[in-house]
Amino acid sequence: MLKKWANSLTAPCPLCGCSARLAQFCTSCHDNILSQQQYPYRCPHCLLALPNHSPCPNCHNHRLSLQRIYHLFDYVPPLDSLVLRFKNAKQPHLANNFAHLFAEQLTQHHHNAITTDSLLIPIPSSRLQLQKRNYNPAGIFAKALAKKLQCDVDLTILRRHESAYLQKSLHRHDRFLHSSQLYYAQRRLPIDRVILVDDILTTGSTLESAARALMSAGVKQVDAIVIARSAKPF
Ligand SMILES: [Zn+2]
Ligand SMILES: [Zn+2]
Repeated sequence: MLKKWANSLTAPCPLCGCSARLAQFCTSCHDNILSQQQYPYRCPHCLLALPNHSPCPNCHNHRLSLQRIYHLFDYVPPLDSLVLRFKNAKQPHLANNFAHLFAEQLTQHHHNAITTDSLLIPIPSSRLQLQKRNYNPAGIFAKALAKKLQCDVDLTILRRHESAYLQKSLHRHDRFLHSSQLYYAQRRLPIDRVILVDDILTTGSTLESAARALMSAGVKQVDAIVIARSAKPF
């Protein structure tokens, strides 16, 4: 009864403003996002868009330790504005919209990616970012996704060393150097697989550092889920 009632609630679609079910996109935006194929070629490993079948500049010299990465959409207009609203404009409720859509996408195309015994681990925010936003976007997205897919989420194991540098001001090489020990696991975690969760994937240096920390703690395989994959010009 309660579920039926919740399903009948409507709210403006966060992308176009048309009427949509609560915490969902309207049918048109929903279909557009799920069917979008912005780029004919992309690296199968880090999902970077490529001009052709050329080697991926991101993975050519050092492949990420992550086994598999899944993304909901590319970080291009108009979807990039949604992620910015989610991260910076105090619209954390968008986590539910993203989670709903991601759950559908995973069910359709990667139905074994997350099962009820999967463990999601969000990338922690820096203290500064947390003070600014009052929430960790990756954390609330991970919680929304775990609720949707009925799996576990661990918000405490992965910790961030505080640092004076902001990642986005650094070049790619420096980001990898800078972030190589940015995260640590605060206890042993001897399990087969975990799934890191983040909002935007750019170079992969953040996910790499977190993956290494978790593997040092005993995790055998680290996969990742991101809302958006940045598409750098090639
Ligand atoms: Zn819409
Ligand atoms: Zn790549």
